[in-house]
Amino acid sequence: MTVSIEPPLAMLAEITHRCPLRCPYCSNPLELSKRSHELSTKVWLNILDEASELGILQVHFSGGEPTVRDDLTMLIKHAEKKGLYSNLITSGVLIDKSKLSSFVDSGLQHIQLSIQGADSKVGDYIGGFPGGHQKKLEVAQLIHDVDLPLTLNAVVHRHNIGQIKKIISLAEKLHAQRLEVANVQYYGWGFFNRKSLLPNREQLMEATEEVNKARDRLKGRLVIDYVVPDYYARRPKACMGGWGRRFLNINPAGYVLPCHAAETIPGLRFERVTDKPLSEIWYHGSAFEAFRGTDWMPAPCSTCDRKEIDWGGCRCQAAAITGRPDATDPACELSPDHGSMNSIAQNESKPSQEQFQYRRM
Ligand code: SF4
Ligand code: SF4
Repeated sequence: MTVSIEPPLAMLAEITHRCPLRCPYCSNPLELSKRSHELSTKVWLNILDEASELGILQVHFSGGEPTVRDDLTMLIKHAEKKGLYSNLITSGVLIDKSKLSSFVDSGLQHIQLSIQGADSKVGDYIGGFPGGHQKKLEVAQLIHDVDLPLTLNAVVHRHNIGQIKKIISLAEKLHAQRLEVANVQYYGWGFFNRKSLLPNREQLMEATEEVNKARDRLKGRLVIDYVVPDYYARRPKACMGGWGRRFLNINPAGYVLPCHAAETIPGLRFERVTDKPLSEIWYHGSAFEAFRGTDWMPAPCSTCDRKEIDWGGCRCQAAAITGRPDATDPACELSPDHGSMNSIAQNESKPSQEQFQYRRM
């Protein structure tokens, strides 16, 4: 059945890949875009115009670290002028009081601040940035002082999932409205470092229990987003709310992607927003059409009653595990490749001497 195409709800604007941190699970590709390939301010202002015309409601300024760009305030202001809700996804380490005020005065409506651990020892080690954790605590206080809604984003893996209770306490202490406990997504740098990052089943069960207890205790005060990581799941997530259904991503060089990891899928052809109107790429771009709707689905998805719920799961994960981007996501118990995923989880979550490699330009 062909599904009708609605305008996208949100745009992830990856305005740069530059970042002072070096997280070993970074969702940016292994081949990072150089500063010289970044789009100019003028092009980004045009993109915001086009996004608004296309019917996009939210823009998430992201990177890399978006605050490395001097024109971020101007972009936020323009997003506001165009009626777009703007969110800043940041590591926080480059933000000071005056920068934050300029963002707020320009119309910023929400901040998503990442933490790499519950304390400086773990946080600075994982982020590869000495002093970063302390700086984040100071920035969270500044965000509270200006009364901006805050989501704390904690990416968890083998080295910090045991800190989950402390991470939740930290979110409370920092006055976050929402805590996103995001298990590492194993593509890009995460896939590269999978053996050194995958948690084991016991770690996961303990963390899940802590989250469930905290959810009850903090009802009405702190929302905790948490889903079981794909390597231990029985059904996949509706990745991006379905391919080409709700989101688009623009990378620093201007390529328009159905998801931030889509470049890991071999054979897809991406188009640049400097070459074609954004709406044409959204409605007719070959990368968007490749897995939109349900017509592309193989068995068992093609006859499954969940096919318009999870949309067959994640294409990047299917490609990474099976080599076939059009396979059923192996996170699904019904996939013929689910056993491979179980084996990977078992074999690669064992404590090893192998050190992860930091992200590098
Ligand atoms: S995941 Fe880490 S390295 Fe990657 S952009 Fe975010 S803060 Fe920077
Ligand atoms: S078979 Fe496909 S549609 Fe059905 S639950 Fe699994 S991934 Fe989802």
